[in-house]
Amino acid sequence: MKLAILSRNSSLYSTRRLVEAARERHHSVRVLDPLRCYMRISARGFDMHYKGKPIADYNAVIPRIGASVTRYGSAVLRQFELMGTYTPNPSVAIARARDKLQCHQLLAAQGIDLPATVFGDNPDDTADLLSMLGAPPHVIKLNEGSQGSGVMLTEKLSASRSVIETLRGLYANFLVQEFIEEAAGADLRCFVVGGRVVAAMRRQAPAGDFRSNLHRGGSGTAALATAAQQAVAVRAAQVLGLGVAGVDLIQSQRGPLVLEVNASPGLEGIEQSTGVDIAGHIIDHVAGQAQPLRQGRRRKLG
Ligand code: ADP
Ligand code: MG
Repeated sequence: MKLAILSRNSSLYSTRRLVEAARERHHSVRVLDPLRCYMRISARGFDMHYKGKPIADYNAVIPRIGASVTRYGSAVLRQFELMGTYTPNPSVAIARARDKLQCHQLLAAQGIDLPATVFGDNPDDTADLLSMLGAPPHVIKLNEGSQGSGVMLTEKLSASRSVIETLRGLYANFLVQEFIEEAAGADLRCFVVGGRVVAAMRRQAPAGDFRSNLHRGGSGTAALATAAQQAVAVRAAQVLGLGVAGVDLIQSQRGPLVLEVNASPGLEGIEQSTGVDIAGHIIDHVAGQAQPLRQGRRRKLG
């Protein structure tokens, strides 16, 4: 297949590994910087150029779009989809995953359990909003934060109120959750590819923190996901429409809860701690799904 990887930086570990895995399997592969893709939209068809030349004939595109270029990157990915190129993670699915509120609503609607979550807009409603959640501690998260930044723990109601007030003053969107104390700073990253958990990693927060993100100093070790955990992770990716996803689960007394679904999960930490060739799994999945490109065909976005 002829594969494009949409990534801002071809020297990033995940991007390099995908290129390597594609080459090992004798696919043609090219890394495209989404910010250098420009497009023409018309009712008669869709075109895209890259650094002065047409982008054409790609069977598949793997988006590795960071939080900072979501909007433009999504438009580029959508253009690929409209030009008939297969992607394991469509632009609509990435948007669903990145917006934590939407993600929680969609998952909960399908019976997937998560920490109880509240959100509201008007400061006059804060007291009642917090009473809908229950007693602290609370976890307050920026709606579009990632890698653990923008996730705060408040132990007292007065702290929850003042953090919420501060965030409102900054016009930040946030949500408030029950704190799952029994997780003891650990969560389970399940890497889902094509409806299967291909690797899992237990992440433990460093001493004194409750956030287990590797970027926050958390440590990752290979883990075996139970059948129940695998089922939840696969279902969460499926509900959002993601062929490749990092599903973060936290273990609570009432079972595994979904914390977050990452549409552009990093490969480095999990490949190194588990030894699984995740890039290879992704390339094999994409090659199995990619259709021969039919020129000029316009796809329905779904
Ligand atoms: P981010 O997108 O920044 O990674 P997450 O929602 O994944 O945000 O939260 C970061 C980390 O904080 C999680 O990996 C988990 O360790 C911890 N955490 C998040 N929410 C809760 C919660 N409700 N209860 C306990 N720990 C939590
Ligand atoms: Mg996370």
